[in-house]
Amino acid sequence: MNLFSLHQETHLIMILSNPLLLNCPGCSAPHTCINMLSGNTFGGIFWSDGCYLAPMLPDVPRFTKCYVCGLIFNQQNCPKTESESEETDSYPEITTLDKEELIAALGSNAYKGIKEDEIYLRIRLWWAMNPRPFHANETKALTVDAAYRENALALLNLLDDQEEDELITKAELNRNLGQFDECLRYISKVKDKYNEKRVKQIKAAALSGQNSVIRFD
Ligand SMILES: [Zn+2]
Repeated sequence: MNLFSLHQETHLIMILSNPLLLNCPGCSAPHTCINMLSGNTFGGIFWSDGCYLAPMLPDVPRFTKCYVCGLIFNQQNCPKTESESEETDSYPEITTLDKEELIAALGSNAYKGIKEDEIYLRIRLWWAMNPRPFHANETKALTVDAAYRENALALLNLLDDQEEDELITKAELNRNLGQFDECLRYISKVKDKYNEKRVKQIKAAALSGQNSVIRFD
């Protein structure tokens, strides 16, 4: 196995192995997928809808679109082998779906009734529709149209109230929809000390009537 690591500082480290090879379940076209042995979120930017950018933790797509036949599929269901030559290393890497492709995947029931897959696609669509400020004190206007509302309400129905992360997601969906009392009701149930600063920021946004996504400090 040919291991190598990328590092800028000692704590900024991601370990990759040879890419994984997989074939489109529709037409067998070969694709590669990043083979991350370890990563972390140091140096990352985090937003209140759960979206993040972390140099040492790339978002490996669960769903992707075949570059040959256009089929949207869950790559986690595909058998994979580790690439062992430079030739196979150069096959196209699977990419994340854009907003139109996410809508197409949901419309075609690509998730085939699997709750976790539908949640994944709807969360990625939610992220794709959210304007994203890059500075903590900046706000970006969020306009809630019918498509936004439909996706947010579907997500609220799919998520349960057991996990802290899901409570934060539900609080945020409600805040995005302008349902600030509901946002505050959900956020008051988040007790983990780890989330304390984030809870404070979400509460402040709800109390000031701000419905758009915020960047966490
Ligand atoms: Zn294909």
